[in-house]
Amino acid sequence: MIGQILFLLILAAAVAFFTRNAGKIRRNIKLGRPLDRSDNPAERWKTMARVALGQSKMVKRPFAALLHVFVYVGFVIINIEVLEILIDGVFGSHRVFSQPLGSLYGLLIGGFEVLALLVLISCLIFLARRNIVRLKRFTGIEMTAWPKGDANYILITEVLLMAAFLTMNAADHKLQLLHFGHYLQAGSFPVSDLLSPLLPADTKALVIIERGCWWFHIIGILVFLNYLPYSKHFHILLAFPNTYYSKLTPKGQFNNMASVTGEVKAMLDPSFVPETAEASRFGAKDVTDLTWKNLMDAYTCTECGRCTSVCPANITGKLLSPRKIMMDTRDRVTEIGNNIDKHGKDHQDGKTLLHDYITAEELWACTTCNACTEACPVNIDPLNIIVEMRRYLVMEESQAPTGLNNMFGNIENNGAPWKYAAADRFNWKPL
Ligand code: SF4
Ligand code: SF4
Repeated sequence: MIGQILFLLILAAAVAFFTRNAGKIRRNIKLGRPLDRSDNPAERWKTMARVALGQSKMVKRPFAALLHVFVYVGFVIINIEVLEILIDGVFGSHRVFSQPLGSLYGLLIGGFEVLALLVLISCLIFLARRNIVRLKRFTGIEMTAWPKGDANYILITEVLLMAAFLTMNAADHKLQLLHFGHYLQAGSFPVSDLLSPLLPADTKALVIIERGCWWFHIIGILVFLNYLPYSKHFHILLAFPNTYYSKLTPKGQFNNMASVTGEVKAMLDPSFVPETAEASRFGAKDVTDLTWKNLMDAYTCTECGRCTSVCPANITGKLLSPRKIMMDTRDRVTEIGNNIDKHGKDHQDGKTLLHDYITAEELWACTTCNACTEACPVNIDPLNIIVEMRRYLVMEESQAPTGLNNMFGNIENNGAPWKYAAADRFNWKPL
């Protein structure tokens, strides 16, 4: 009974803490400007099913994709076992699904064990790729101590959780074979049976191991759940809405500002009356000038570096890294959210995303090729943020590189990007 009460208290605290922190991320995302992405729901569901559920963009790197599928499928399916653990914890039962599921239960537990082993091996390989092989994709100026540690902590936790799951089953099965207490014959244990010779024969010690691993496993999962909002691993949840709300128009299609379009139309046609709604700012200086989708993108970033590894600017040694753009956006919006919590919603800290986090040099290094958006496994669009901040630099700060300023001047004076007068057009090139 004490165990059940303790379990309920821990569960209630974990769920309440997670709900509070997930609510803060939701609030932070809503700090962005409005954007209507409610169109074409059928296409959106398809995109989500293909990209988030089907992991379609992961297959471009087959080895990593296979390992990721093991971890992903293992994570989802082993949670059925967690459901049983939760019910057992609340009601003080033991393997509550074994009676109603009969022989199917054995198949399920056997399947979970194989998956647990695959997850464990995959996580060990992922750890080796990051820490021993040191793949270039996992390095970069933005991959400071925290992002590196974050990836490792989760992988190590998953290894420990899977090890605890298998050890728990091994001890449980041994107790079943000894017909001890309530440990009734239930389940099949193709993987954990290999651990049995390592366990003691004494039933008291076996019960301690089985119960210890049971508590470690469930508390570990609740800790994992509450770590998610502080980690890039929040993508486990946000990948689904983020792909649902993906941009459906062609990747290269930029959005025109309605106010500017209206002004140009009015210049060309004096009878045209532009709509009165005015933008408060041209482009984006801080995260609150970006849309909620840009901010959801930032919280969905897995920090995988696929975008940066294909970015021509980064490859040729420029300062730009699209992964850094997303991480900076997330860090800045989180900073604003923390300020709201501490000082109220009107607090100004004097910082902005542009200049304090992302420099003009990074932004102007972008070729707008869209390789980053194409490569992203969760349909994140770093280019949209880059373009919005460039727009601010040009239209609000008149800060454009000399080459662009010359072009703007030529368009203004000559009606063309080149330095020649319109009257001399036929002199540009010998016929
Ligand atoms: S669009 Fe810009 S940031 Fe993205 S890959 Fe191309 S150059 Fe890099
Ligand atoms: S933006 Fe996409 S590709 Fe780039 S690091 Fe984040 S998840 Fe990976």
